[in-house]
Amino acid sequence: MALHPASEFNRPSLVQEWLSRYQKGYFVTLLKQHWREYVPIVFQSFDSHDDPAKEERLANKFLFKPLEYFLCNGDPESVFQQLKERDLPSQLCGHVFKNGEPTYSCRECATDPTCVLCMECFQTSVHKKHRYRMSTSGGGGYCDCGDSEAWKTGVFCGKHEPKTMEVEDDKNPMEMLPDDLTDRASALFMATLRYTVEMLTWEHSDHLPDSLQPEGELSNNYVCMLFNDEVHTYEQVINALQKSVNCSHKEAVDFATTVDREGRASVTSGNFKDCEKARNHIEKNTSRHGHKALKVQVMHITVVAHQQFALRMIQWLQTIIARSDGLRRLFCLLSMQQQENEQSLMEVLLLADTQLWKTARVQSHQLMMAGVLMDQECKKKFSIIFTKHYTNLMKAFCMDDHDHDVSIASLSVQIFTVISLARTLVAEHNLLSVIIQTFLQACEEKKNTKDGKLMFERNTSPTFKRACFSLHDLKYALICKPGPTEWTDQLRTSFLEGFSCFLELLKLIEGMDTVKRQIGQHLEFEPEWEGAFNLQLKLEDNIVLFLEWCGSDRQVLIESYNKAVEVFGSCKDIDRSKKFCYSVTNANVDCIRFDVGSEPISIHLPVTRILAGLHTYLGQHGLCFESPDCSLVRPDPVELIELPLRVQVMVAQSNANMWRRNGYALINQIFFYHNVKCRKEMYDRDIVMLQVGASMCPGNDFILHLLYKFGLINWVREEYDVPSGQEDSLRQTILLAEEFLNLLVVILSERYMQGVGEVTRADIVKREVIHQLCISPLAHSELAKALPEDTNHETGLEDVVKDVANFKKASMAKGPQGGKGKYELKPEFYSSYNPYFYHYTKGDKSKSEEAQVKRKKESNESQALPPPVPPKFTPQFAPIVNLLQSDVMIYLMELILGRAAATRSRSLSETQLERVLYLIGLALHEQRRAITDGVDSFDFLSKACGQTKDSTKVRKDGKCIQTLLDSIVNSHIVTHDSIRDLVTWTIKTLTEVRHMKNEPVSCEAIGSVTSPRDKQVEMARKKQAMAAEKRRQKIMAKMSQMQKNFIQENAELFDNTSTELFPRNGSDMDLSEVDNSTFPIALGMKRTSVGQTSSQLGTCILCQEEQEINFTNKPMVLTAFIQKSTVLSLSRGTAILHGEEHDPLWMRSDLNTGSHTSSCGHMMHADCWQGYFDAIVNRERRRPLRFRHNYSYDIEKNEFLCPLCECISNSVIPVLPAVFPTQNIAGDGSSYLHFRDWLDGIHKTVVNSVKEPDDVGKGEDSSIIYQPCPLTTITKLMAESVASKFQSLWSYVQDPSGSGGLSIEMKDMLKKFSLDAFSFGLDLRPNDDDVRVVIMVWNTCAFTIQSIEQILRDENKPLFGQMSSRQSDCLKSVVKVAASYSQVINPDLVKQHCIRLLSFLFPDCIKNKKTDLSILDVDMFHYVVAMVMALPSLHIDTSGINQNYSQLPSGGMNDQHTLHLLIGVHLLQILLLFDEENCGMEVDGDYEGEALLILYNKVHSLANIQNETPPLPWQLSVHVRKAMMPFLRCTALLFHYLTGVPGPSELSESRADTRDDFDLLCKYLGLNSHMSRLLDNQGELMDNLITRWCKNTSVKDKMSASYQPHVQYPIRINKLIPLPEDYSELINKVSTFTCPKSEGEDSRAPTMCLVCGQMLCSQSYCCQTEFDGVTVGAATEHAFKCGAGSGIFLRVRECQILLLAGRTKGCFVPPPYVDAYGETDQGLRRGNPLHLCEESYAHLQKLWMSHAIPETIAHNLESNSTLLTIDWQHL
Ligand SMILES: [Zn+2]
Ligand SMILES: [Zn+2]
Ligand SMILES: [Zn+2]
Ligand SMILES: [Zn+2]
Ligand SMILES: [Zn+2]
Ligand SMILES: [Zn+2]
Ligand SMILES: [Zn+2]
Repeated sequence: MALHPASEFNRPSLVQEWLSRYQKGYFVTLLKQHWREYVPIVFQSFDSHDDPAKEERLANKFLFKPLEYFLCNGDPESVFQQLKERDLPSQLCGHVFKNGEPTYSCRECATDPTCVLCMECFQTSVHKKHRYRMSTSGGGGYCDCGDSEAWKTGVFCGKHEPKTMEVEDDKNPMEMLPDDLTDRASALFMATLRYTVEMLTWEHSDHLPDSLQPEGELSNNYVCMLFNDEVHTYEQVINALQKSVNCSHKEAVDFATTVDREGRASVTSGNFKDCEKARNHIEKNTSRHGHKALKVQVMHITVVAHQQFALRMIQWLQTIIARSDGLRRLFCLLSMQQQENEQSLMEVLLLADTQLWKTARVQSHQLMMAGVLMDQECKKKFSIIFTKHYTNLMKAFCMDDHDHDVSIASLSVQIFTVISLARTLVAEHNLLSVIIQTFLQACEEKKNTKDGKLMFERNTSPTFKRACFSLHDLKYALICKPGPTEWTDQLRTSFLEGFSCFLELLKLIEGMDTVKRQIGQHLEFEPEWEGAFNLQLKLEDNIVLFLEWCGSDRQVLIESYNKAVEVFGSCKDIDRSKKFCYSVTNANVDCIRFDVGSEPISIHLPVTRILAGLHTYLGQHGLCFESPDCSLVRPDPVELIELPLRVQVMVAQSNANMWRRNGYALINQIFFYHNVKCRKEMYDRDIVMLQVGASMCPGNDFILHLLYKFGLINWVREEYDVPSGQEDSLRQTILLAEEFLNLLVVILSERYMQGVGEVTRADIVKREVIHQLCISPLAHSELAKALPEDTNHETGLEDVVKDVANFKKASMAKGPQGGKGKYELKPEFYSSYNPYFYHYTKGDKSKSEEAQVKRKKESNESQALPPPVPPKFTPQFAPIVNLLQSDVMIYLMELILGRAAATRSRSLSETQLERVLYLIGLALHEQRRAITDGVDSFDFLSKACGQTKDSTKVRKDGKCIQTLLDSIVNSHIVTHDSIRDLVTWTIKTLTEVRHMKNEPVSCEAIGSVTSPRDKQVEMARKKQAMAAEKRRQKIMAKMSQMQKNFIQENAELFDNTSTELFPRNGSDMDLSEVDNSTFPIALGMKRTSVGQTSSQLGTCILCQEEQEINFTNKPMVLTAFIQKSTVLSLSRGTAILHGEEHDPLWMRSDLNTGSHTSSCGHMMHADCWQGYFDAIVNRERRRPLRFRHNYSYDIEKNEFLCPLCECISNSVIPVLPAVFPTQNIAGDGSSYLHFRDWLDGIHKTVVNSVKEPDDVGKGEDSSIIYQPCPLTTITKLMAESVASKFQSLWSYVQDPSGSGGLSIEMKDMLKKFSLDAFSFGLDLRPNDDDVRVVIMVWNTCAFTIQSIEQILRDENKPLFGQMSSRQSDCLKSVVKVAASYSQVINPDLVKQHCIRLLSFLFPDCIKNKKTDLSILDVDMFHYVVAMVMALPSLHIDTSGINQNYSQLPSGGMNDQHTLHLLIGVHLLQILLLFDEENCGMEVDGDYEGEALLILYNKVHSLANIQNETPPLPWQLSVHVRKAMMPFLRCTALLFHYLTGVPGPSELSESRADTRDDFDLLCKYLGLNSHMSRLLDNQGELMDNLITRWCKNTSVKDKMSASYQPHVQYPIRINKLIPLPEDYSELINKVSTFTCPKSEGEDSRAPTMCLVCGQMLCSQSYCCQTEFDGVTVGAATEHAFKCGAGSGIFLRVRECQILLLAGRTKGCFVPPPYVDAYGETDQGLRRGNPLHLCEESYAHLQKLWMSHAIPETIAHNLESNSTLLTIDWQHL
């Protein structure tokens, strides 16, 4: 193969050669020669991931730059610049959306919901102030800013507003191009596009087109190319690859990711044989389980290289045509120019779409978007081509397996939604027919061979599902509905042709999925029903749009109506020959013989229903059958109502329980038939059709048809009430009669449908809203969900809701869920309530009735729920009211009233009576309207009053409606007050109407009916009611007794839920013994004496036994949860500490990683707990391994749930009796040891206890021996007076419990807790022998106190008194356990720790100190806790004699001096780190500023730190008091729980002014509040120590300018990161976020850590990592690094909070973002603008701070089992 070496490449001469010869037709040949040589060089490494930058560089140099130079014949940049300047400024934004980018649509101004703006345009548009909807783009599509067809108003944003009004629309941009450039561009575009199309569609894998085939033999270099499909899962592909091409898991994941993203990837390379082998392996490994094998191809590398180049060429072409409108137009025209084979290159590309791999498709679509779709002229041409090929494109798409959004078919939305284009396509290119025909072809395979109707199987085939995308396209095409003046003859013709096709489609559905009532046996198989309903849902919008088109033009309406009647006639199977002649009173009619109870019925009647829909439009055009100028085919009303009536009867029978044996399939169908999603084009249309029938037939006939179909022929006979033999069907008949009357009410009163009643769209929505709110007040989303949506997914709710309801905001205090505001109906609209509202379900009806009756009762109104006055029917439907005055109707009314008035009736129900009363009410409303309007033809009144001349119509007993009503006022049949009141209302209204008609009714008569109830009857009724009430009370009493018994039996359980063990005043002691006049002091000589505590009782929640907590009784424990925590970390981002080699003795001052203990406060016997826990473990062990982890707790991690409250726990804290030292140290002060003497003694002890290795220099810290030195050795070194006092500090008090001390069981529990604190706190396996166990107990005590102190501080709560009982129970126990633990372990170990701890403060004791920890590195509170716990053991006699001496810290002198020393160190920390910026306002009263300033200067000079401007004295003074607070507060809590001395009352209450808290705390802790005195004049030793501490070099390092100190005092409280107010800012932010591991790729689930703000690529293969040998997702990994295992994240696209804990568990909680109605929108489904809710974010903040993440997760997992199936660790 003779390649030009790259060095021979000479661009100018190459370009020159092209320029000189291109016009002679050699150009293509020359280009191909060049490509033949250079394409393999540039793209030789088929795997572009090796070095994409290099490939890019080479491609530019050898391939693209020459083309650009040729095109421009000069410097491309300057030529393009000139061209751009000639372009007209574009007014279209055209911004192409990336996946996940936010889009905005205006609900008021957008033509349809597909019209969207980009964020930038939206921000400067008028729509920002309108009602808008926000969503995230799925990628593709562009911003419609500037497109006048997309917006009704506000077409332009601020940025794209046209500067001048004169826009030359039709100017051809090509005229701006110089001629020679046009020539060269033509040649170049044709050549490159032709090449691109040829290569992308090239099907041979081992050779190239002749012109590109390299000379000579091909090298034996192949790759094995793996292609994407949507059948195999990631796991399957990864598995197959690992087995087949011998790669690592990581490599396999990378291949799979690439295949998924790009559509293909070369998985191995080599000679043909090897690649062929790999191919066979992969195919074999993926064809199992009945799958089609993955597509694999062995391709020669030069073929791959040319395809790579072709792909790049598409991108290059996009950038070139973007340079100039003229070039774009030229390119587009050329691409659509017919070639030799009569197809244009564009068409070739279109049709080849499904043959291309994913990237090739996406790239070619982008080229079309940037080319033909950006140029108005070419867009039209392209859309015609697209329409021409639509059927083929859809067919190819159906057979394909790629998603719709990577198919060329998805371009339809870009074309059909452009109104002008779509209308042209519909009119001139039969777009509607084309789309529907395409879909009809797909329907062929679904046709039932029996009757030609559609029939679906249980799992709809993917092909058919894909074909359904046509129905979306149909909807897009129908959006361009013409206005009345926009119709042309051509449009009419082609639209009607489309409508005919649509009717053909509906005809395939009409009558499908018939059901037959099952008698005897239950149905064996549930028939398939979902397919038909899915199709119905997809057709819904199309039906509405077709109707709107038909209704907008008179001529079209007439023709479409006639077509619909014709199709209706051709598809129904109504056999008119089967007749049934039937008569009631003197009316008779021929009914169509059909028994709903035994013959097949279908609920699918789209043809009938579309006819009903068309019917409602007739009136608008002044059309009716009779008018001579219209040629409507008059359908037979009896046939029209037949099918809808059958459906109504079936539903009625089902309600009467006659279809129970048909199972769920029928119930589901009936449910969806009425459901808000389907009812508009199903149930509602059926009612309209019945109304059409009622308006066309004589009233008697209509009612008789209904009676016959309902099977009520016998019931309607008067004799029916006389008992006879057939009793079993009586119940059913009563129910059917109720249903029948209900249907009559619906037909007569449902007029809120345009064309049926005189109503507007707003009236209709209002009525829906009113009826929803009559059930109960509702949140905005709940209300919106209950309303039907129009074709733009709008309910119209916002336009009307303010008129009928008030919005009540709710407080956010209860967290995010409590924040929903609710709509409440305005009182004046209650009168519009109709209990027979046809969109109510049974449940809605009874709930609303109950609510309304209750409301009326409460306001002492009549409880009747009479019919509201309905709106007028439109003239066309007006005859319906005649039903009310028909003889049969009057007969029915009299029949039922008569039965009600009778002493006994077997076929009457109260419900029947109620419904008849309702009908009479409706009739009276109509009568009143007729009188007002002066209409004489309606005369219900005289019939109701029996004033008829015709004797045949008079009842036998001579009674009429009016007299019958009077006689049932007191009927015993009426048991409900509301019905009784309805009778009264009816009588009253009847009287009023008679009065209107000037009938002889006195005004008193009207008044008299308002107090209707006969006194005697009233009394009887009351008596009855009282008896009933008595019965009820008896039952209630019985129930309550049962309940009481239950409570008694479980009394202890109920009592103990409020842990009353510890008195709530925050103290253990008996309050009576506290002298309130004295201020409590917890430390030192003046320590307040605490009396013997009253005995404490505890109850075991497991055995319910109550007992005293002491040393002799069975030990008790609290549940506990111990977790590693970074919540308090002040250096986020640094690595968290890991167990193995970590020395926990010195907590770092940045509190990087701590160990937190919490408890739900529930108490058990230690042995009861052990039994409970063992039982859980045994149960788990028996469970098969694969089911083990599916629980809210992980037994492998010792986890269990509190048996009472199900709080997650992993340990127990022993409950120790409250034992406080009684030693009187207050005495006369003779034993007082001065601080300096104490310090000296301690110093001596330490110096004498540290043994360094002899050979200086080689010494390592670890080899230093800490050998505690005996007390006697130390005292010998002291003055005698001092020595005895020092010695007495270690003369411990006798253990008050006498001999026993801690029982063995108690010791075991102490050990267990300590071991847990160690292993959970350090993430290590438990190890009894580890010396660090005791330290971890101290640490978890210190950390828990610090954490609770911060929570209290954050909430502005007082230190004592307002802690939750959980918090105080937990702290109390943990403090005591920490103090006692040293008693159960080897005292020598504690001594060693103590000396080691002290050696840090006495640097002189170790000469070769290697550790360079300075005082700035250590957290002093942890130090205090460890010191206080360890010091009592320092000089304990271990000889065994004093075993029973308590080593508990007592708040004595040791503790006081320890605190003195350590607070002094803390003061130095504060002074060293003082930062002026932290200072507040100057305050009055300089406490001790001068003294502090001297100290400040001293320590800074000792540390050798230069400070140019020393602070002012008052600044220091204020700062020290502020900075010291957290430490003092923690220390006060510690000693409070150690000594039992109650906190000062001032610190137990919330106070506005907390300035003297500092002094109070100092006093409580026995400290001088003048801090400087802690360090001043404390002796030579102290001065020495200060000098050594400050001179530590690391102090200076930390203070240097380059070092950013993490820690500032006062220790700040960590917060979750601040979030933006507007949620779209977050969406926008993540739209630019790309996966950090696969460069530049979008991340599917961008997830933000709320602790540190880092953005992660979650739930995605690309960012999975191995952690502890397990594959975990990015969020899980981050939770470990950032939160020591717990994490709180915001999933931005889903808008939900993700909580993670313990690697395998997690849950979702609502986000802190709410819409204007206070509702969250998890999953961003509604798209309302969302704003940050501070309260609910504070709620999350608190959840995090209180370490409640694991607990929240466990509770969620317990209550929602579906969460257990989520693979949390891969998030
Ligand atoms: Zn835009
Ligand atoms: Zn714009
Ligand atoms: Zn708007
Ligand atoms: Zn117990
Ligand atoms: Zn509990
Ligand atoms: Zn990623
Ligand atoms: Zn983080």
